[in-house]
Amino acid sequence: MVKTIEDRIENRIEDRIAAVREKIARSAARAGREASEIKLVAVTKTRSVEEMLKAAPRVDALGENRVQEAASKKRDWPAGSGAVWRMIGHLQGNKVRKALELFDTVDSVDSVELARALNRAAGEARRALSVLVEVNTSGEASKTGIDPGEISELADGVLDCPHLKLEGLMTIGPLTDDEARIRNAFAGLREMASRVRLRSGLPLPVLSMGMSGDFEWAVLEGSTMVRIGTALFGPRY
Ligand SMILES: *Cc1c(COP(=O)(O)O)cnc(C)c1O
Repeated sequence: MVKTIEDRIENRIEDRIAAVREKIARSAARAGREASEIKLVAVTKTRSVEEMLKAAPRVDALGENRVQEAASKKRDWPAGSGAVWRMIGHLQGNKVRKALELFDTVDSVDSVELARALNRAAGEARRALSVLVEVNTSGEASKTGIDPGEISELADGVLDCPHLKLEGLMTIGPLTDDEARIRNAFAGLREMASRVRLRSGLPLPVLSMGMSGDFEWAVLEGSTMVRIGTALFGPRY
């Protein structure tokens, strides 16, 4: 039978998700972990709603970088197609209210001011918001997130926000092929999470680390959430 383009897109995404899940499982096994501990977030910046709808039932969440883009996609999103929407890009103060309408979580909290603004908006909306604190573990100036030295202060700031629920930490690995450097950054995030856990007494179960190029190393270093775009949908143009 001749396959329609529809079928081919669907199968490709389905196959790629299966292949990524398989690699996650293999790395988890190597680290003596259960694959079920690791959530798969499909990173959908620049992808069409059509592609996203194919992926959504097979992944744990969708990750979007921009408020405007997410807003326009959600307008076209069919009612009844459930998905968890995670904000993973830098969030500006003036978009906080809009972000709260669109997203289930904000994974990129990188300042006390942003935490307070989210807390205020969540209080007004009478909801709790799950958040991650984003840390710049690579020292690269182009990367978002707070410096590791500021983590305690920011974590304390988030803990002072009654409408925010701090679930863990997030990072983007360094832009390099050097396995040792990448794993070192991920191990650093894991150690920071232990310190914040000790300080706060909270479980902080989420370590969001690992993208298409480095998620297997991230899983070896304890990632509980990988954020994958290219490996699921192909190159971004
Ligand atoms: C784009 C993006 C990803 C996914 O990157 P890929 O290399 O396409 O897997 C993950 N996390 C963040 C924060 C991103 O902006």
